[in-house]
Amino acid sequence: MDLDAVIYELEKIFDKKNINYNEPMKNHTSFRVGGPADIFIIPEKTWQVISAIKLFKEHNIPFFIMGNGTNIVVRDGGFKGAVIKLTSLNNISVEGNKIKAQSGAFLSNVSMEALKNSLKGMEFASGIPGTVGGAVTMNAGAYGPEIKDVIESAVLCDYDGNLFCFNRDELELSYRHSIVQSGNYIVLEAVFALEKGDSTAIRSRMEELNRRRADKQPLNYPSAGSTFKRPEGYFAGKLIEDAGLKGYSIGGAKVSEKHAGFIINYNNATAKDIIELIKKVQEIVNEKFGVLLEPEIKIIGEE
Ligand SMILES: Cc1cc2nc3c(=O)[nH]c(=O)nc-3n(C[C@H](O)[C@H](O)[C@H](O)COP(=O)(O)OP(=O)(O)OC[C@H]3O[C@@H](n4cnc5c(N)ncnc54)[C@H](O)[C@@H]3O)c2cc1C
Repeated sequence: MDLDAVIYELEKIFDKKNINYNEPMKNHTSFRVGGPADIFIIPEKTWQVISAIKLFKEHNIPFFIMGNGTNIVVRDGGFKGAVIKLTSLNNISVEGNKIKAQSGAFLSNVSMEALKNSLKGMEFASGIPGTVGGAVTMNAGAYGPEIKDVIESAVLCDYDGNLFCFNRDELELSYRHSIVQSGNYIVLEAVFALEKGDSTAIRSRMEELNRRRADKQPLNYPSAGSTFKRPEGYFAGKLIEDAGLKGYSIGGAKVSEKHAGFIINYNNATAKDIIELIKKVQEIVNEKFGVLLEPEIKIIGEE
């Protein structure tokens, strides 16, 4: 890849303040691990996202789209290529019972906007620390409801910069999965269709769910939430606990004693510590119960 030529073109698309080089990804992931990205850009306009991916494709530069980095581990060798962080595309607007949000808007802000407008349905999302783009990609959910239950449509673009408006069915949302993952799309915005509700009830549901979260989850340590997907017929956390792995650690990564479904960075973990611990947990749970746990978190970058 000819990085110099790409950087020359990139600086025509972006303000200097929106481009960083050799940016430590540990500053952008909730796990607080990850080596540097060669190029790190924060677009403020949708056209910049499209121009950048076209440029990267043309020059064969690998790129990775991220929201708030709350479901990823970047390996210690960093990302050879470009990381595009979408959190500055964060406009939210409300029309009647619908909320339109750009991909980088935080779910917590979308939920607050719903509350302000007495719209119910987004309460489950108020404590999920990701963005709209990450949540659509992952079909994020909590305490029953998931994105699939509230989304009406989303604007996506493919890696050639073609735009599509997909309705809910076309998004192929299923447990922690969507067409965004399998079809290599980028989420640009989403429309959520909610129902009129009572703001006091909406607020108290949010507070109740966030209390439950704080009671059960190790929120005072860096993590990426639940490490593994829920295997059919089981709960990952219960299997890990029953395998005697609560508190098990490798380097600075540990299976949380508060919630075995979470691996936490409890003491300056490296990505390597986390990934080795994931493998160890998979191995032991598989040995004891014959269940192969599949990571929910996405692992990227070089060792
Ligand atoms: C403390 C904690 C609690 C959590 N609780 C929950 C929970 O209750 N329920 C739940 O479902 N998740 C939970 N998570 C995980 C995480 O917050 C969600 O998966 C969230 O939706 C990820 O959003 P993000 O913006 O951080 O995505 P990122 O971590 O930045 O990215 C995740 C994936 O989505 C892709 N992606 C992100 N944005 C886009 C885009 N615009 N277009 C295309 N691809 C994109 C990335 O390439 C990556 O593959 C939790 C995480 C933490 C740290």
